[in-house]
Amino acid sequence: MKELKIPLINNGTVIDHITSGNALKVLRILGIPENLSSTVSVAINVKSHLGNKDIVKVENRELETSEVDKIALIAPKATINIIRNYEVAEKHKVELPSEIIGIVNCSNPTCVSNYNEPVKSRFKVINKDPPQIICYYCEREPEDISERII
Ligand SMILES: [Zn+2]
Repeated sequence: MKELKIPLINNGTVIDHITSGNALKVLRILGIPENLSSTVSVAINVKSHLGNKDIVKVENRELETSEVDKIALIAPKATINIIRNYEVAEKHKVELPSEIIGIVNCSNPTCVSNYNEPVKSRFKVINKDPPQIICYYCEREPEDISERII
């Protein structure tokens, strides 16, 4: 079995098994390159035994839960590897929670979550892979989830 070896980094995060072609969306979620303070490596369309995939490696940064939830929306098969001192300290698959709050904008302009009131967007997750969500308030289902991530 051919498996890509990810070059070792001292500390940081390796996001593996990103749906092929979605690495740039993952970078956007992470605020890269605007919010850049360390080395970032991207591999696009890498062959693996599970089909082609993208890989993103961010040095000196561990992801926050909200960032992992956003990644799960566009790359539901992704795995997050936390590297500390050259070793994989934690490895887990992304998994969408049953509700996501404040990370996707509702596509319905008259939805209460789009008023200027302090109402955070709230979606029920009805399918995890491929991700499908519906608005808690107006039941609108956004078709272009990746474009609506806040
Ligand atoms: Zn709505």
